[in-house]
Amino acid sequence: MNAHLQAIYALQEVDIEIRKFQRKLHELDPGRAEEAALQAAQAQFQQVNSVTTITERDLRDAELELQTVETKKKDTEKRLYSGSIRNPKELDSMQHEIEALGRQRSSLDEKILTLMDTVEEHRKAQLDAKQALVQTESNYQARKKLYQATRNQYENELTNLAQHRQELAAGIEESWLKRYETWCKQHAGIGLSRVVKGDCEACRTSLPLTLVDSITKTDAIAFCENCGRVLVSGVNE
Ligand SMILES: [Zn+2]
Repeated sequence: MNAHLQAIYALQEVDIEIRKFQRKLHELDPGRAEEAALQAAQAQFQQVNSVTTITERDLRDAELELQTVETKKKDTEKRLYSGSIRNPKELDSMQHEIEALGRQRSSLDEKILTLMDTVEEHRKAQLDAKQALVQTESNYQARKKLYQATRNQYENELTNLAQHRQELAAGIEESWLKRYETWCKQHAGIGLSRVVKGDCEACRTSLPLTLVDSITKTDAIAFCENCGRVLVSGVNE
């Protein structure tokens, strides 16, 4: 058993954990779907609001126009029946004007009724859009809160792991740290493999008994013939 190998194996375990949390942190979803849903709900709410405002304004305009038409019709009728106008041509033209104003009033009445229905529909859509907005906002906030909490947790883990790594590395000779770096580079970050029940743990290959014997009983450095990793014995077997 080589104590240096055991020490750098412990370092490798910490490095694996660090990479795991770094990856988890990187892959953590800050709530992209919820944010997109919120933005869509905001856009929908704004759109419904603007349509409602326009329809309400159209309704007010139509109601004002109706008032004007009614006043004009009443005034003309008043003049017609006052007896002050005797010219038949003028009376005839006033009669026609009253009829025209009556038609105008009917069409405005119709328009107003339609607009009132539309305004009602839009107000209902406005309420629905508002509700959807409140819901998506709440979903987004909840997701963000969860994200932040998980992020904090991972960052704490990473801080602790970094500290632990520093402590471990402080107890390892520089030359062994350099070897460790080299071995890890050669094998995608995992340069050492435990011997577990006579197998190389990393690649599951059965190791020759003489080789296992040699690394168990001496300080010899041996490599797995299959995956090429440095074999470590005596670690939590
Ligand atoms: Zn192997």
